[in-house]
Amino acid sequence: MPRVYKFGGASIQDADAIRRLGALLAEGVARPRAMVVSAMGKTTNALEALLAAARRDDQADYRRWLAAIRDDHLAVARALFGPDSQVAAELSRLVDELDAAHGAHREAPYPFHYDQTVGMGELLSTTLVAAWLNEIGVATRWCDARALIVTDDRHQTAEIDWAATHERIASLAAESDEVLLTQGFIGATEGGAMTTLGREGSDFSAAILAEALGADELTIWKDVTGLFNADPRRFTNARQIARLSYDEALEQTWYGAKVIHPRTLAPLQRAGIPLTVRSFLEPEAPPSTIGPEPGEGDRQPAFMLRDDQVLLDVSPRDGGFLDEARMAEILARLAEAGLHANLLDVEALRLRLCVDPAPEKLEPLADALATDYRVRRHEKLTLLTVRHPDKALLARLDGHRTRLAERCSATTAQRLYPAAECPDTWQIPE
Ligand code: ASP
Ligand code: MG
Repeated sequence: MPRVYKFGGASIQDADAIRRLGALLAEGVARPRAMVVSAMGKTTNALEALLAAARRDDQADYRRWLAAIRDDHLAVARALFGPDSQVAAELSRLVDELDAAHGAHREAPYPFHYDQTVGMGELLSTTLVAAWLNEIGVATRWCDARALIVTDDRHQTAEIDWAATHERIASLAAESDEVLLTQGFIGATEGGAMTTLGREGSDFSAAILAEALGADELTIWKDVTGLFNADPRRFTNARQIARLSYDEALEQTWYGAKVIHPRTLAPLQRAGIPLTVRSFLEPEAPPSTIGPEPGEGDRQPAFMLRDDQVLLDVSPRDGGFLDEARMAEILARLAEAGLHANLLDVEALRLRLCVDPAPEKLEPLADALATDYRVRRHEKLTLLTVRHPDKALLARLDGHRTRLAERCSATTAQRLYPAAECPDTWQIPE
């Protein structure tokens, strides 16, 4: 049965990392039918900086970023293939293409220009990785994702044309039995313009490929051994979860868990393909799996934080109740402003909702509501969401903290605390 692998930027950040990835595929694990690779290390951020310099016409800064991107990739090519390799020439050609694109797109709308620029990181990284895998005897075919992932022209957040995409991937797979290696994050319109699927979109690319190939598993290789019940950088005693269902993973993503790109799960869930998260540093370590069946992650507490939250405390000026018509009006205004309520706490005379900080969106919202509602704003807050809590756990988490807003359903509790009363790193009460 075919499997699909996805390797993120950290797993290919330098020559040693690419050698490690090669060794893993050559002898460590089963060969995948297809694999998706992100841009190397922090290349995507560098490309965004390059684009920003180009848009403000800062030639010196633009040249500096272009040289840095070229040098980083050529240094890896030199370390892997020696001086003056064919791969180095190909990488240089891609960087020249990137440079030429800037002349052509300087006047184009930003999202279009973004996609023609920022998608280049994956074209560079896959060129290096495919050449290295072939060098060490892992027969690999470099595939251009722009010929496989067909999208609409909503640049930066392109939507997939599923039927066309599946057809293209299936016909490619029928042609070749080598490992198919392609770029995450990018696709193209029918007309051939490069598009991107949103930052961190390579997980989604891998899921699209897994569904189209009828894979029996998708493995995302990370620098951690799996999924955790809280972000290990923020909770000192976070624990790995062995199994959880798609629905539970979606819930946790909704509340801010940065497990995987949120669009990743839909194609997998549709096709019933489990997603396994493993460590490329410790491939033998027990992994985590998200699949159709519930696991312990569907029952045990999990913790999500959102920092720097803003609370809007909204009450009708005429002192009336917050009935359905008023609720609908407030939420419609919120959606129009492009804001999302990370927490909704409803009472008879007031609605408290909490949003990400975005002054450029908050001002128009406050203006739109000002005639009929009194809106009070509190800033610098921390939103804690706990899945599957019990009362004792919540009481210990609350401690003596001020709760500015809260919500509790059968499976989810949310608390909004002043950030000043919260620690930088949390301890899950044991
Ligand atoms: N390289 C892209 C990014 O950094 C896509 C990805 O890594 O998933 O956002
Ligand atoms: Mg990445």
